[in-house]
Amino acid sequence: MNILIIGAGPAGVTAAETLRQYDRQAQIVMLSAEPYPPYSPPAMVEYFHTGREVHFWRGQDWAQRLGVDYRPGTHVRSVNPQDSTVLLEGGQSLTYERLLIATGGRLYAPIPGSDLPGIYNFKSLSAAEALLKLVKAKEARTALIVGAGFVGVEIALLLADLGVQVTQLVRSRVMRAMLDPETAEIVLQAIQQRGIQVLRGEDADAVAFEGQTRAAGVRLRSGKVLTADVLVAATGLRPNIEFLAGSGIETKWGIRVDDHQRTNFPAIYAAGDVAETVDRITGERYVHAIFPNAVTQGQVVAYNMLGWDMAYEGADSMNSLKHLGLPVMAVGLMEGEELRLRRGGILRKLFLQDGRIVGFRLVGDVSAAGIYRSLMNRRTDVSAFKQHLLEPGFGMGYLTELAAWPGAGLAA
Ligand SMILES: Cc1cc2nc3c(=O)[nH]c(=O)nc-3n(C[C@H](O)[C@H](O)[C@H](O)COP(=O)(O)OP(=O)(O)OC[C@H]3O[C@@H](n4cnc5c(N)ncnc54)[C@H](O)[C@@H]3O)c2cc1C
Repeated sequence: MNILIIGAGPAGVTAAETLRQYDRQAQIVMLSAEPYPPYSPPAMVEYFHTGREVHFWRGQDWAQRLGVDYRPGTHVRSVNPQDSTVLLEGGQSLTYERLLIATGGRLYAPIPGSDLPGIYNFKSLSAAEALLKLVKAKEARTALIVGAGFVGVEIALLLADLGVQVTQLVRSRVMRAMLDPETAEIVLQAIQQRGIQVLRGEDADAVAFEGQTRAAGVRLRSGKVLTADVLVAATGLRPNIEFLAGSGIETKWGIRVDDHQRTNFPAIYAAGDVAETVDRITGERYVHAIFPNAVTQGQVVAYNMLGWDMAYEGADSMNSLKHLGLPVMAVGLMEGEELRLRRGGILRKLFLQDGRIVGFRLVGDVSAAGIYRSLMNRRTDVSAFKQHLLEPGFGMGYLTELAAWPGAGLAA
């Protein structure tokens, strides 16, 4: 089988590894627009902090070890499903029997000019290197970050730690899509304590230009213009799908896939931040751009390419802040019956619908995350023991005892 993978992020890498595990003969070609070995974006932050190359999570010789024909620095310009070819930036054309599109996404802000020169990104290693080069050269002493989504907060913390004076524009609350107001307030205070200036309730209207070519600042709705040495647009993530225009591959926000990660062309699959899949709990279509989803989707693609008929269970909605100095975890929905415990620096919030956990927010102590997630994903009815859920020691020990209770829904 001749398999072509576009993208060397966690989705592409996991697909290649899973394929190779079960098919020693398949010809696997993997393309990446960037000039590096496969890397882990979450580990980039630690790399820029310490200089240790922890982001090359599979090792620099990954492709040779696996027998993958890896072609870094290869940008795909278009895909033609009619004749099963992919056209590269240099004009060369490649054929495939099975194609995986795993091109990820990039940060953006929904304001005019946010994609133009002078606006920096941090979603890929190339983009992060370009930004950090300025910081190291002391050409970026001030930074303005539009938006406070998960990655926007991580960038703000990193830049502040590297001595950059950071201002962050927050329209309503930090990580609005993931955090309830109370949890968001705790995160906001922690960010401010790290020296980041947060402008709350401020709405960016457009990028302000210098000589019409380069972004120099951001104009607020009030008309005020804020400037900084570097600007980062980070309200959300936009999947990298522009090169699919005219291909006939169905896209909406991301690439539309069925429960086998297949596009509307049976030989073409999509996985990771570029793919629009269903949420595990709500069943709604969404791009849940996190590492574990990319990995699981990559596995599902590989199994289906091997002919194993494997359905994807649905994406997890989950985030944890790693560099805040305070453990924070947000999983699933923020609607329904709310169970809450606040004790000292610890906040635990669980959201229940029909007696089942549909989401939770943890601050200060995230040790119960595993058991809550397990109950949530198994759709366990927790009504019979919900008064115990918030107790500090709640965990497997409790469940073993509770399993004996009639009506607990936990008996084997
Ligand atoms: C700073 C940061 C911190 C993060 N922290 C976490 C975390 O703590 N936990 C978590 O779960 N998630 C985290 N994420 C998100 C996580 O990294 C992504 O969900 C994950 O990397 C998605 O994997 P992917 O394979 O879909 O795409 P990506 O990792 O984005 O890889 C995309 C690949 O496609 C290539 N590509 C793109 N366009 C083309 C083209 N036209 N031609 C050829 N190649 C192309 C790129 O070069 C790259 O190799 C973080 C992200 C960032 C940026």
